[in-house]
Amino acid sequence: MGFEKFGRRSFMAATKVAPFVDFLAEGKIMGSVCRDCGAKAFPPRSDCVACLSPNVDWFEMPNKGTLATFSTLQYAPVGFEADAPYTLGLVEFPDGLKLFARLAEDTNLDDVKVGMDVTVRTKEYDDGQLSFEIVKA
Ligand SMILES: [Zn+2]
Repeated sequence: MGFEKFGRRSFMAATKVAPFVDFLAEGKIMGSVCRDCGAKAFPPRSDCVACLSPNVDWFEMPNKGTLATFSTLQYAPVGFEADAPYTLGLVEFPDGLKLFARLAEDTNLDDVKVGMDVTVRTKEYDDGQLSFEIVKA
């Protein structure tokens, strides 16, 4: 599967981290980990973010984290207009990794607070596009 299957809009089909989308189809959210220095990255990177080594592998992202911040977009960028309004959030995990994603569409925003426990899960949109989303724990 190519990267064109990722997210609401995808701008490239071929990349060394394209298996990321295959993992999403399997229900896994994966990051990259360097075989040389052990640095982890999310979103996955084709080369190590710390030592620039091309010798990287996959690891499954932690599931539970805390919501660091969130914001609801009433006006969306070009290509995303049909999805607005939607809420974006930043999740921090205990090991320092961060993940940026939409909150699940059925989230009651009155219940959303900075610092609350959240989980992340894969998401398939009605048109078959794959992504991941934040869910209140
Ligand atoms: Zn490295």
